[in-house]
Amino acid sequence: MFDLSSQLAARKDAGLYRSRMTSSSPQDVRVVIDGREYLSFCSNDYLGLAAHPELIHAMGECVSGWGVGAGASHLLAGHSEPHEELEQALANFMGAERALLFSTGYMANLAVLTSLAGRADVIHQDKLNHASLIDGALLSRASLQRYPHLDMSALARQLEADNGARQIIASDGVFSMDGDLAPLAEMLELSRENDALCYIDDAHGFAVLGEQGRGIVDTIDTRCKDYSEGHLLSMCTLGKAIGCFGAFVAGSEEMIETLIQQGRSYIYTTALPPAVAAASYAALEVMMKEGWRREKLGGLVEYFKTACRQRNIPLLASTTPIQPIIIGDNDRAVAVAETLKQQGLLVFAIRSPTVAAGSERLRITLSATHDEGDIDVLLDALEDGAAA
Ligand SMILES: *Cc1c(COP(=O)(O)O)cnc(C)c1O
Repeated sequence: MFDLSSQLAARKDAGLYRSRMTSSSPQDVRVVIDGREYLSFCSNDYLGLAAHPELIHAMGECVSGWGVGAGASHLLAGHSEPHEELEQALANFMGAERALLFSTGYMANLAVLTSLAGRADVIHQDKLNHASLIDGALLSRASLQRYPHLDMSALARQLEADNGARQIIASDGVFSMDGDLAPLAEMLELSRENDALCYIDDAHGFAVLGEQGRGIVDTIDTRCKDYSEGHLLSMCTLGKAIGCFGAFVAGSEEMIETLIQQGRSYIYTTALPPAVAAASYAALEVMMKEGWRREKLGGLVEYFKTACRQRNIPLLASTTPIQPIIIGDNDRAVAVAETLKQQGLLVFAIRSPTVAAGSERLRITLSATHDEGDIDVLLDALEDGAAA
């Protein structure tokens, strides 16, 4: 048999062991674990929609009418009206010709990169991209070329060196461990100049960034044209700020049709339950009409950053609800997180190799359901902990 025990023990010794907590309360900034209530700073439910009454109602209604499971994949009769309505609403909202639903963002990234690139092609990726973009590129068998974080001149050199093959620039919109933004305007320009595709994974930006909540594409002047000319394709998840589950890709008619024909992680998997699509539809509406959620969240991010500056707590360049605090060592990051936990605060330590050695950190995420007092409690505890 395999010897897994020494491998697991080595992980433990290296301080890299991962373990799960079981919560006994619904998703909220206050969660109950092992009978104790914690104030949580580690959810991606940025707008506080996961347990919103309108979503719960929409999902319940849909379950009553449509049952629970989709029963089959989208191509084999699993595609129903709730899916179709959501896809159309998302395409409209994004200003793209079409949108295509996926069961997860991970699967969407696999489908996009494997359908649009093959052996002869090149995929250029930011060094700090999400694991699912890396995995998609590996699975596509294209040449994977990574450029230093946000380094557009390095990207330009890579693109010029590889004329001829089909080229894709793939990047997180908001980087999941750092919270900073991809330079989308420059990436799009490079895509046009080099006849490449700019594929943006906006898992953490959708519903959070921009006046309307379209995400990173709202921070620059994107139009349907960018999608229809085949230079822009975007992926957004529905399990983070939208509070549900699943993901979608927005793009041109041709791009989306190619994903339907060739995306193995689209074709060979069961469709989302229709009620999950109905809940996402309701979430999209709530997100649009309750703009105060996004505004309040933006205010809390500002409050957090100002308070950290006043307390001399060093921050990264993030302007998003992902606010990392660098600790710089695995054991210390875990120890600080543990101290916070003893004080009823839930914050995760992100260790190397998930982030570069020396940049081990606490990853703090803010939600519209936090208030300024919650942030004060966290920062007081951090200051005490750092002094100890
Ligand atoms: C969470 C995340 C994904 C995966 O989305 P799921 O729907 O959870 O599979 C993909 N990319 C990025 C950047 C993410 O943060």
